[in-house]
Amino acid sequence: MSSIINPLSVETQPSGGVGNAARDRTMDWSERAIRNRWCGDNAGMAQTVKRAYKYRFYPTPEQAEQLARTFGCVRLVYNKALEERTRAYRLQGRRISYGETSAWLTAWKRTEELGFLAEVSSVPLQQALRHLQAAFKNFFAKRAGYPSFKSRKKSRSSAEYTHSAFTFRDGRLTLAKMDAPLDIVWSRPLPEGVQPSTVTVSRDAAGRWFVSILVEETIRPLAPVRGAVGVDAGLTSLVALSSGEKIPNPRHERRDRRRLARAQRALSRKQKGSANRAKARLKVARVHARITDRRRDFLHKLSTRLVRENQTVVIEDLTASNMLGNHRLARAISDAAWRELRTMLEYKAQWYGRHLVAVDRWFPSSRLCGVCGMLAERMPLNVRAWTCRSCGTGHDRDVNAARNILAAGLAERRNACGADVRPQRETSRAGSRR
Ligand SMILES: [Zn+2]
Repeated sequence: MSSIINPLSVETQPSGGVGNAARDRTMDWSERAIRNRWCGDNAGMAQTVKRAYKYRFYPTPEQAEQLARTFGCVRLVYNKALEERTRAYRLQGRRISYGETSAWLTAWKRTEELGFLAEVSSVPLQQALRHLQAAFKNFFAKRAGYPSFKSRKKSRSSAEYTHSAFTFRDGRLTLAKMDAPLDIVWSRPLPEGVQPSTVTVSRDAAGRWFVSILVEETIRPLAPVRGAVGVDAGLTSLVALSSGEKIPNPRHERRDRRRLARAQRALSRKQKGSANRAKARLKVARVHARITDRRRDFLHKLSTRLVRENQTVVIEDLTASNMLGNHRLARAISDAAWRELRTMLEYKAQWYGRHLVAVDRWFPSSRLCGVCGMLAERMPLNVRAWTCRSCGTGHDRDVNAARNILAAGLAERRNACGADVRPQRETSRAGSRR
């Protein structure tokens, strides 16, 4: 299992309506970088990326106790610093620096009631203050809301160790204040010769322990291929491809979802605060964890395959703000899974020298005939196939949508790269909005 830290978000909407020459003059460096990525100017170069490898591990009882204590201290330090910073901000309009909070921490450790903070590794506590600093930075830059307190029940329990607080030797990872290395299940090898920069230990709601190891890795792009594919989030399948292939939902997902519903009903019947309720909650968390794990695994395989086989992958741009009132919420694929797939496609395309294009989601992809361009009437969701009244072509609804998405994406790419076609986004879009 692996996941990426800070996947480069691919900006897919070039400023519309301006000719390429005019845009070239006004483009700033970031737009230029985006355009280069789109047009493949930087293809073929190996790049160094930060990549997190996540593994399960089984702590000894002492390690579990030590880590649980560390999680508690991390939360406490974060919340206490947030409280103090809030006071300074509200009462004096003062912004606090990381250095100041770090000095507070030192002072807290010297007090009688918070002396226990010195019993755990200090690095995760400092990292908690850094995370808080980042949260405030995002708040002041209006990228995020005001930082909120971490709750014992709702927040993920985790502790982050930087390189001074762990040793990694001969494939054995030992954290500060611990004698024995962690018993890690190396489900996949770490790349040869890497030195982890950060290690994050966490425990999920299902009580499982994970360690996420951040390394720098050199990724070489894949050899270019000719293929291009449009991907539509299907109704009956997970996704439909413009090639006509439909990829079903992961096996067991339906059965697991029934189990989840059953477990949730059982939980709702248990008395608040009872031991049985805690047990039922754990059961819900376990089923939930299994569903998301299987799905993530499935999405990794799917995204890798799409990126390997195609030079260009086109998807629909589903933005959260457009979600409400949209019948597509009924899709078999949940929006969370779709976002996850998109994120994977984004960073894998970036790694391997491929292009990901996201097209306007209001494009009426499923009822526009992919052959003649006729726009069919709105159809109810149970209509899986339809025949074009104008040209007589029989369409599978999802596959037709995927083909239209591919065509729209290729057109956008041609425009962005300044080929023979001038950008016609505005005119081509105006007629197709629902
Ligand atoms: Zn037609």
